[in-house]
Amino acid sequence: MLPEFPAPALRLDIDRDAIAANWRALDRLSGAARAGAAVKANAYGLGARQVVPLLHEAGCRDFFVAHWAEAAELADLADPTSIAVLHGPLSDGDVAFARASGVVPVLNSLAQVQRWTAAGGGRCHLMVDTGMNRLGVTLAELGEEAVQALDIDVLLSHLVSSEEETDLNARQCRRWNEARGAVRHARASLANSGGIALGPDYHGDLTRPGIALYGGIPRAEMAPLLRQVARPQAAVLQVRDVAAGETVGYNATFTAPHAMRVGTIAIGYADGYLRCWSGKGVFHAAGVRLPVLGRVSMDMSVIDLSAAPEIREGDWVAAEYALPEAAVTSGLSQYELLTSLGRRFGR
Ligand SMILES: *Cc1c(COP(=O)(O)O)cnc(C)c1O
Repeated sequence: MLPEFPAPALRLDIDRDAIAANWRALDRLSGAARAGAAVKANAYGLGARQVVPLLHEAGCRDFFVAHWAEAAELADLADPTSIAVLHGPLSDGDVAFARASGVVPVLNSLAQVQRWTAAGGGRCHLMVDTGMNRLGVTLAELGEEAVQALDIDVLLSHLVSSEEETDLNARQCRRWNEARGAVRHARASLANSGGIALGPDYHGDLTRPGIALYGGIPRAEMAPLLRQVARPQAAVLQVRDVAAGETVGYNATFTAPHAMRVGTIAIGYADGYLRCWSGKGVFHAAGVRLPVLGRVSMDMSVIDLSAAPEIREGDWVAAEYALPEAAVTSGLSQYELLTSLGRRFGR
């Protein structure tokens, strides 16, 4: 038998209180509407099985995933009828799973409407496209008999640019209101994280924040309400002294201007700490900044330890990873910064 699983040299520090606090802040900001939660993509990389019970405890009762497999993985943690699958039923197998489990399909097309109805129908959500041109039935299709006959809980649409000031927001809101008048439904939903800050016109009965739950700041005015959630941390694998003129890492993109102490840490692009952080990332230990030197490699990066000569093998350092700032530095979106974080983190 193998001995106990050793602890990874890489961990994602997740502030559970911050997730709950962010949900409550977004629920309050949603006014008369209730906040649900997008927990697709493993709760944006943080671990949906950990996040869903937290959000449930905070009061969340509507969860959105993209794939049926994601719903199946969560169905023992929350009432399956509170979990919705955004991609909708693509096959009779999906429909059978929905009917047997109680997980709710989001119907996105007339074909999905027909597939659902043919199997006996029942409570569903309906996505109407108001400008994304990605998923959803058109406003014109709402008049179809098969659509009119649905038992729709949530009539939803999705904003294209909620984080920006653009006429498209108001245009989508108008079309969504048109849709609300065109088909019977129990609840209406439009706003993602950014949309919640656009005001009561955008709230309907249910909002669907994702990124803001996990510390993303879609709009600057939301910053005071939201807390950072995820902080990648890596162990120092080795400490070494590099002489002036020596280079560090693949392709020798960093040359030591003087003798310096450096540390090799256990995080690389295979962990989602992508090569865009090469020469740009910063880690912290004991309040000191430790910049990344040279290229990020697959499993490792090298940091400058000149300012923290006391750091030893086995010590831990934390990445600077506040999402709005990290997005500017890295060129990645706040969404990519979370969803790319890999499987090797202890979470
Ligand atoms: C991902 C998603 C959300 C959440 O969006 P955020 O921008 O992360 O808040 C809401 N609704 C739908 C349909 C989505 O696909």
